[in-house]
Amino acid sequence: MLSPSKRSPHEPSLETAGMGKSKLTPRQQRFVDEYLIDTERFWSYVDRSCHDQACWPWIGCRDEKGYGRFHVGESRNSSKLAHRIAFGIATGEHPEAVCHTCDNPSCCNPAHLFGGTKADNNHDMMKKGRHWLQVAPERAIKGEAHGSAKLTDGIVREIRRVYALGAATQRDLARQHGVSQRSINKVVRHIGWDHVQ
Ligand SMILES: [Zn+2]
Repeated sequence: MLSPSKRSPHEPSLETAGMGKSKLTPRQQRFVDEYLIDTERFWSYVDRSCHDQACWPWIGCRDEKGYGRFHVGESRNSSKLAHRIAFGIATGEHPEAVCHTCDNPSCCNPAHLFGGTKADNNHDMMKKGRHWLQVAPERAIKGEAHGSAKLTDGIVREIRRVYALGAATQRDLARQHGVSQRSINKVVRHIGWDHVQ
């Protein structure tokens, strides 16, 4: 089992993600209290042995799709998706859907997660080709090559957040979201999608 104390002190994201010894922000605390989450126990199931930008796989039990599950509540009788909890502890938010930029269902690195709507989640899965590759592989390739993938408000927010964290380059983000690097550049410079805060 890993403990936060084993990590070197130069990793600021641990503090912001509520994993270090620092206190949680009131917003993070509200999330933890609402779902009665034992944060220490939670992070003990997350393999953070690699570096901060790497995937942090869930080493506890997983569902049939590969998503980690964590028991919460007073008698631990209800289970929640582990990556949703990781995102909730890090941000204090519990959006309709929490998606992965890394396409790794068991990953619980908050830097690889973004909140959105269920529509975003479907869009995200489609972009990553899970739908298209199953039904029409040639169309999936064509769609990406034509840059026809569309961004949503939720995804735009996430692109800005990940970019600001330095967790991905514009090129990475363009590839992940199936759009041109020019589109990403506009998003992060607020030239495009200016209505999204
Ligand atoms: Zn990941």
